[in-house]
Amino acid sequence: MPTITIDRELCKGCELCVYFCPKKLIRMDPGFNSRGAHFSCLRDPEQQCSGCAICAKICPDVAIEVWR
Ligand code: SF4
Ligand code: SF4
Repeated sequence: MPTITIDRELCKGCELCVYFCPKKLIRMDPGFNSRGAHFSCLRDPEQQCSGCAICAKICPDVAIEVWR
């Protein structure tokens, strides 16, 4: 099953991946990374990611990897 990993230290909290995931699988975490930015994460790793890679392509900081 496809899934993604998000590097919280690369994330700057722009929320583009949250907005553009067609399945709404990504949310913002209330915590902060070492740069003081909120970072995104999967809502529920058990949910069905399609592996479409829209989130990875839209991320300006290349923080998302897609695993198919
Ligand atoms: S690969 Fe596609 S379905 Fe999976 S989290 Fe990213 S945008 Fe959403
Ligand atoms: S698009 Fe990239 S930088 Fe923006 S919230 Fe998502 S992972 Fe973070």
